[in-house]
Amino acid sequence: MHLVACRSKNSVLAEIQDSILRSVLRHEAPHIGFDFRAWDLFDFQKINSDDRWKTLLAGCSQTGRALEFREHVFQSLRETREPDPTVRRLDLAIVSVGKSDGILGFQPGMPFVDRDSREKPIGNSYPMALSIEEMICAHDLIVIAAGDDCTIEDLNWVREPIHENAPASIVRLHKNPTIVYQGTSNDWNDPNEYKVEQPCIDIVDWDSHPKGSVLFFCPHPDDASISAGGTLGSWNGNQKPTVVAMTSGHRAEQESASRESRHSCRMEELQRECEDLSVDLLVPELKFYDENRFFSSEDVSVLLDILRRHRPEICMIPHLDDRHPTHRSCSYMVREAIRIALKTGWLRTLEVWEYEGPWFLHTPETINLVVSLAEEAMERKLRAVRQHRSQIRRTAYDDGAEGLARYRAVTLPELCLADFGSKREIGEYVEVFRRSVWSI
Ligand SMILES: [Zn+2]
Repeated sequence: MHLVACRSKNSVLAEIQDSILRSVLRHEAPHIGFDFRAWDLFDFQKINSDDRWKTLLAGCSQTGRALEFREHVFQSLRETREPDPTVRRLDLAIVSVGKSDGILGFQPGMPFVDRDSREKPIGNSYPMALSIEEMICAHDLIVIAAGDDCTIEDLNWVREPIHENAPASIVRLHKNPTIVYQGTSNDWNDPNEYKVEQPCIDIVDWDSHPKGSVLFFCPHPDDASISAGGTLGSWNGNQKPTVVAMTSGHRAEQESASRESRHSCRMEELQRECEDLSVDLLVPELKFYDENRFFSSEDVSVLLDILRRHRPEICMIPHLDDRHPTHRSCSYMVREAIRIALKTGWLRTLEVWEYEGPWFLHTPETINLVVSLAEEAMERKLRAVRQHRSQIRRTAYDDGAEGLARYRAVTLPELCLADFGSKREIGEYVEVFRRSVWSI
């Protein structure tokens, strides 16, 4: 998080202008999104008479997706248009924080509903030009906290846990937001922030599994077996790993019609999977899933409770860049729970293993943990994946999981573990992770 103090409204505008320029230089015709209030702060007349601005905005408008003109934004909302599927991610999002810490039309106490709900009116207006997801997933994010009397003390949401009562706190989910505020001091630091370190690449064999508690945070019932079934099923620590099923996955397409039958079908499949893998199961069934929320502080409290009870040594979580929105929401919420646990001090250090799966693959240079799977481990994994019959009927995840484990075993020895052309033995099948150590 980067805080920039600006003495006047003009210097706030100059800061935003520079950010847009940087984005244009980096991305060439970037996709840029504004919210209405940020757009108002721009002072449209000034932009119209400034050649530099015109050039910048012309560069942006080539994409056809950037929300450059206020009229265009209103028009888009009136038409309830579908988002352009070719634009996966904004390059730059510019949003502003209103009075009482509102952001993107969210006022204190409103639930963080996800993009499905963003076209729906809230009260009598359509306040959201951007969804939370677009804001959080944008490559760069600028947050303008520029009221005449805004001081650094008004930015409490920068430090506090993410909560619906201070909607601007959701900004914390972004990897590296820039907060531009109107004030005179840049004197801000967050002494309680945790450290994240990435160890060198390692190959785990059967004797070296850590001995402490392991939690696998599972967005849908079948993710544990698909992404880490080989590792979990052959864990040789002091205690069984625990699969934390964050949702029942009942929204997935199935032939059976009712919610109840889809729900019980997926839960039965999950229980059979956990028996196959010989792991423990927790089913907190977080509310965000049924309530269509992007993020829920209530669910974070549930996760925090699980962390407190288990005191894990390792948490396996989805990657933030996972293409599946439920996976991403789960990742954000587990991360926030871990952050709170570290900041409050009862958790001192923790390994986080980010796994891959059908909607997210690690790039070779980010893989730093390779788990070789014995033949039985691979068989057990596939048996567990195939317990999810309702899903396999739709998509052959068992074939996908087997192919991926084999592909990693074939390519990694040259790509990551030795020089090109040479070889290091890692077995027939592997699972890979991005491991990091979080500590205070
Ligand atoms: Zn999933």
